[in-house]
Amino acid sequence: MRRHISIFILLLPLLIASCGKDQKNNPEKQEPATLYFGGDIVTMDGNEPQYAEAVVEQEGKILFVGKLKEAESQFKDAQKKDLNGNTMLPGFIDSHSHFSIALGLVNQANLSSPPMGEVKNFNDIQNALVELKNSRNIAEGEWVIGWGYDPFQLEENRDITKAELDEVLPNHKVMLVHISNHGAVLNSKALEWAGINAKTEQPAGGVIARMEGSMEPAGMVFETAYLPVKAKKPKPNETELMNSVEDVVRQYAENGYTHAQDGATFTHEAIFLKKAAKEGKLDIDLAVLMLFAEKDKWANSEITFDQEYSNHLKFQGVKIVQDGSPQGKTAYMSEEYLTDGPAGEPDWFGEPTMTRDEFTSLFSEFWNSGLQVFVHVNGDAASDDLIYAMESVEAKADQDRRTVSIHTQFHRKDQIEKFAKLGISPTYFTNHCFYWGDDHTANQGAKRGSFISPMKSAINAGLVVSNHSDFNVTPLDPFFILWTSMTRETRSGLKLDQNENLSAYEALQALTTGGAYQMFEENRKGMIKQGLLADFVIIDQNPLKIETDLIKEINVLETIKEGQSIYKIKTNTNNGY
Ligand SMILES: [Zn+2]
Repeated sequence: MRRHISIFILLLPLLIASCGKDQKNNPEKQEPATLYFGGDIVTMDGNEPQYAEAVVEQEGKILFVGKLKEAESQFKDAQKKDLNGNTMLPGFIDSHSHFSIALGLVNQANLSSPPMGEVKNFNDIQNALVELKNSRNIAEGEWVIGWGYDPFQLEENRDITKAELDEVLPNHKVMLVHISNHGAVLNSKALEWAGINAKTEQPAGGVIARMEGSMEPAGMVFETAYLPVKAKKPKPNETELMNSVEDVVRQYAENGYTHAQDGATFTHEAIFLKKAAKEGKLDIDLAVLMLFAEKDKWANSEITFDQEYSNHLKFQGVKIVQDGSPQGKTAYMSEEYLTDGPAGEPDWFGEPTMTRDEFTSLFSEFWNSGLQVFVHVNGDAASDDLIYAMESVEAKADQDRRTVSIHTQFHRKDQIEKFAKLGISPTYFTNHCFYWGDDHTANQGAKRGSFISPMKSAINAGLVVSNHSDFNVTPLDPFFILWTSMTRETRSGLKLDQNENLSAYEALQALTTGGAYQMFEENRKGMIKQGLLADFVIIDQNPLKIETDLIKEINVLETIKEGQSIYKIKTNTNNGY
């Protein structure tokens, strides 16, 4: 590993400078150029909105950005593509999500409630399961699995039972995995497979729900009762996973992303992704963050952090996790929670993953190896640990190492200043405002809860920021992310600190230029600018020109990666789309 890293350090300036020049330039075999015009082309170049009349693409690169007349006279043979009044932006850059986790879910039914999914009641669950069975031709006796199941979001406000699942799928094994991943509901065939029946005793620390007035299991198993089921649950084999790669790429592409992240990658997953890339399965760029815990395995697994894409895949850096999640009350806070801990602990502050000294030593090891370090920090005490570690390696912003803090949700004003000095670039997670903002207010108090993901303060302090979905924790939907960063409204309609609301343009920067910077790719993507990759998304409304609440309703019409259309909406209604 070290050999690759030291080469990487030497070559870094060269690599960055050469990004965008690697296309072969053989005039005889050149593809025809394409000239885009006829809509709002938002370049994202600069800190104020700028529009171009025309963009010319050839061989995956942007050749020209400017006036239509000039483009027409310079590129007479270009194929013209009329945007028909629609809006073109650089392709969205996902600054933190979990590609590998999504691979395991595409063959399952999405049972999430709005807006993550569409399931509102038991009937919707039944329909989603039957639809999955039909669309995937799942034979009797095989598994039909759903994810994102949350009974508290359903109209019935209770767990669905095995009988209600048997109604629609009596001959399949059915499992609905709870949104927490700590439990599931099984139908009769699945309970039989798990060996759970009226005689099964409830294990300590676990729950086996029973039918009313009997010992007959009702379907739901939780905590220690679920663990053996979880362990025994069938996992997709490599062929099945390989077939899922295109489905997951498509999910990103239909949301307008031309760059995705695998935000915590185990070594076996990295090896699999390399294989998938080699087989040409990646139509978009995928940046991989290797999970710190397996650092000793990397050298033998050809994990090379060379910042170069190979078949759209690159190993970006290393990911350290220093705390948990605020909704699980495992985010590590400097002041105690107002409510008890997850297991009823009084005077609860959450917990760090490791001690400050352990964290600092691990961080220093990666830092000294020349790696780009990404650190999951949710609570402010975890951010304090990151600041401490950065100070101990004498990090400075002008070293341009671009250490990225992931989530950074409970961030104090004094920490933002330190981040600027040390050169930490945060990726925030404003979807939390909507999903768990009410819980955070209850658990952390109005003041701390309200200041979650303080993106405006960070921008004002000169930090380059991005914003992410943490998919599959929240939807990939970039327009929902824009909306949460611009309104900071909770599920109940509470408005969190409105001084931190972003403008539409800032919100877009956090999905384009911000992520490109964090990936050391600002000279390659994130803007519509001459010399950069022709990565575009065409959408049906301009978020800079419509009411904020309508931004959620914007649709992706087409996604273009290096000049190639990788997703196009299926409809004949909208101006050629
Ligand atoms: Zn994550």
